[in-house]
Amino acid sequence: MSADCIFCKIAAGEIPAAKVYEDDQVVAFNDIAPQAPVHVLVIPRKHLASVLDVHADDTAMLGRLFAAVQHVAREKGIEGSGFRVVTNTGKDSGQVVNHLHFHVMGGKTLGHLG
Ligand code: 5GP
Ligand code: ZN
Repeated sequence: MSADCIFCKIAAGEIPAAKVYEDDQVVAFNDIAPQAPVHVLVIPRKHLASVLDVHADDTAMLGRLFAAVQHVAREKGIEGSGFRVVTNTGKDSGQVVNHLHFHVMGGKTLGHLG
């Protein structure tokens, strides 16, 4: 838990969010400003600022995280139609929340990256 981190507070239930999935390591919730018909954020409960904070011994957490992505895709009905998983890192990416999160987006044909 990092003080003043909005996603830590969502994970702890201190700030409400429309949760799609949660377990002891991972939480998934609808993005407050969706950019696609399905736009879910999947986060570890552990506070890591970005992929730059991921360590080689975070394998179990990352496996759980991608299992949660699969759960979200099935739950939201986009497993067959396809979807995108994105994580922003730093200034040029436009990262605004400094708690590692994966955007899961789908439900429409997405524009090309970049
Ligand atoms: P970033 O640009 O850091 O990759 O994306 C942060 C995402 O978090 C944005 O898509 C933004 O809409 C979402 N977001 C920011 N604050 C909140 C919040 O309080 N609740 C929810 N559900 N999403 C948030
Ligand atoms: Zn945090």
